[in-house]
Amino acid sequence: MTQAATLEILRQLISFDTTSANSNLELLSWIQDYLQHSGVDSRLVYNEEESKANLYATLGPQDKAGVMLSGHTDTVPVTGQNWTYKPYQLSEHNGRYYGRGTADMKTFLAVALAAVPAMQQANLHTPVHLAFSYDEEIGCVGVRRLIDMLQSHPLKPAVCIIGEPTTMQVVTAHKGKLAARVTVKGKECHSGMAPLGVNAVNYAARLISWLEQLALKKKVEGPFEDGYDIPYSTVHTGTVNGGTALNIVPNHCEFVFEIRNIAAEDPHTLLAEFRTYVERLIAEMREVDEGCDIQIDITTEYPGLSTADDEEVVAFVRDLTSNTERGNINFGTEGGLFSQVLGIPTVVCGPGSMNQGHKPDEYIEAEQISQCEAFMARLINQLSA
Ligand SMILES: [Zn+2]
Repeated sequence: MTQAATLEILRQLISFDTTSANSNLELLSWIQDYLQHSGVDSRLVYNEEESKANLYATLGPQDKAGVMLSGHTDTVPVTGQNWTYKPYQLSEHNGRYYGRGTADMKTFLAVALAAVPAMQQANLHTPVHLAFSYDEEIGCVGVRRLIDMLQSHPLKPAVCIIGEPTTMQVVTAHKGKLAARVTVKGKECHSGMAPLGVNAVNYAARLISWLEQLALKKKVEGPFEDGYDIPYSTVHTGTVNGGTALNIVPNHCEFVFEIRNIAAEDPHTLLAEFRTYVERLIAEMREVDEGCDIQIDITTEYPGLSTADDEEVVAFVRDLTSNTERGNINFGTEGGLFSQVLGIPTVVCGPGSMNQGHKPDEYIEAEQISQCEAFMARLINQLSA
């Protein structure tokens, strides 16, 4: 049975439209007030403009490393999506709770917050740290400031649980991601004299085709890693824009692509191979016009997660959950940053499923909320017994 307190908190969290483009400060202010009620101090780690923040709070002993419960407060937009339920109002129907962020990932935050009074009463010998971030959905951007803060903190959390939706399965691995924008600068002229110009669209097409060949090579030659639906690194071009009119040789074309890499692969090695090809094309273009160029800008980058099965955190979290299934996830989390930058052993385990995340009529099963509550109760037990 899901507790009324959890649902009430979830209702509040869903009511704030914390699409990544918006501020999350109102939501954080609500959480800070709530924590204060239980006598818990929290601190905010702001972005440059002070329009968004991470929230960090420690429950229990303040002078010990503990278990960090980590989640993001932002959500993806509902723009262009056809919802039958109101996205920013929690609705219940047939054992499912609907609303933007129910699966990804405000329910985990709600369950953790609902457990705060119990944590306060439990006399924890090992603390629980709450780490709630912003701008996760646009490339794990916000949490980097929290990581900077923790880097200079005398005490780092001993382990980290990322509550992204895994239907409460303990997940130890996901791929890393590197996304880039490529801008091709050609030379325009009348299309009737095409050989005198440098066609930026054609050069972009060759680059995109090179990336496609790389993707096929990964599929055939690997390296491979078990546990994934797609057990190798993927390379993909998402959008392309170029040219102005049919009778003009285009002087501009840009496209975006991404590499999602398994642990055995460094995306920068692949990027370096791509750069070598880019240099060749630049030289070719400049035979016609010195002003031609191709620029690569990395827009997003986060490391994969690859926690060894024999890390203590894996057994510890498996004991807390009733889902014994195993597998990797097909989406990224902030876990790679916590584990690679701060060296904190990290797993992903949270309620709901990404099958419902990012979609219209996003929902979470009531049974998932109960499972997460039971998980939280066992955690409190472990840390206070
Ligand atoms: Zn998420």
